[in-house]
Amino acid sequence: MSLRRAPNPNRNFPTYCPYCAGEDLYPNEETDFAWKCGECLRIFEVKFYGQDDPAVSHAPAKSTEEALRDSLARNGHAAALAGFSETDGNQRKVTHNA
Ligand SMILES: [Zn+2]
Repeated sequence: MSLRRAPNPNRNFPTYCPYCAGEDLYPNEETDFAWKCGECLRIFEVKFYGQDDPAVSHAPAKSTEEALRDSLARNGHAAALAGFSETDGNQRKVTHNA
């Protein structure tokens, strides 16, 4: 006889009790998803079913090189912009003219 159950990958960890907002939560043996609130003594389940696709997707993030170049241009640092090499973004060369 084994007292330990197999891990349940769909079990989620609630931070607060949904009924009294208590934080004294412990897994309960009622079901594989059950939690018991130590403050209001309610037993409830939390299940994660999945995630919907967003109605509108975000614009792709700029690379570090593009973000730095845009910031320099926005703030009027033409001298630093002139030092940028036109590489694929993995390396940049900034020359300082002092
Ligand atoms: Zn509670």
